[in-house]
Amino acid sequence: CGIVGYVGRRSAVDVVIDGLRRLEYRGYDSAGVALVADGPEGGLEVDKRAGKLANLEGALADHPLPESFCGIGHTRWATHGVPSDRNAHPHLSADGRVALIHNGIIENFAQLRAELESEGVEFESDTDTEAAAHLLGREYAVDGDLTEAMTRVCVRLEGAFTLLAVAADDPDTVVGARRNSPLVVGLGEGEYFLASDVAAFIAYTTDAVELGQDQIVTIDRDGVTVRGFDGQASEGTPFSVDWDIAA
Ligand code: GLU
Repeated sequence: CGIVGYVGRRSAVDVVIDGLRRLEYRGYDSAGVALVADGPEGGLEVDKRAGKLANLEGALADHPLPESFCGIGHTRWATHGVPSDRNAHPHLSADGRVALIHNGIIENFAQLRAELESEGVEFESDTDTEAAAHLLGREYAVDGDLTEAMTRVCVRLEGAFTLLAVAADDPDTVVGARRNSPLVVGLGEGEYFLASDVAAFIAYTTDAVELGQDQIVTIDRDGVTVRGFDGQASEGTPFSVDWDIAA
């Protein structure tokens, strides 16, 4: 029920876990992170656990992930599939090249899943989300552009969703999308945040952008770009987080 994405100069896992902790009030049953390892090789590192954030933090303390400055994190409130490590987010595409997190419900997931299974895709969870992860992986494989891939996937999805994704070979980019579900952008200097609520990043910045419906946002170390699900360039609405709330 909470979503955080980060790209910048800080340890991504620290920022993401800190953000998830600040979103704990929303309630959740599982938590997970995906980080893009720094360096030319890149690579996705995923850890996800049923139960409290402390379970995930304990696992990460026992098995620290490689250094990363780009990552996403999720707290889940299960709607499709029981709370379990397997059903926890992030979910990976079949080729393991993209990781996706999702808050909300993808109403037409059964149809998408049947289509993907008929093409030989094997599912590893009972979630509605995993169908979108496989679709995204398939589209990413076409041109290696995560924003374009997300745009092609979103027009196929019905329901309410906030999605964030990272790709194994792109340690500088997080792509988000929203329909009937919240997503805000935090603007730092050379660092950017995506979250379901400003609470996740007010420790770092009070400059924010509210996204509109059916928008896709891409953050990298150079800034933020927004487009509609129709692919047209767009803009969110800038605002400044009230210091009273930030305090
Ligand atoms: N529908 C998804 C699931 O059950 C996401 C739930 C959520 O909003 O956390 O895994």
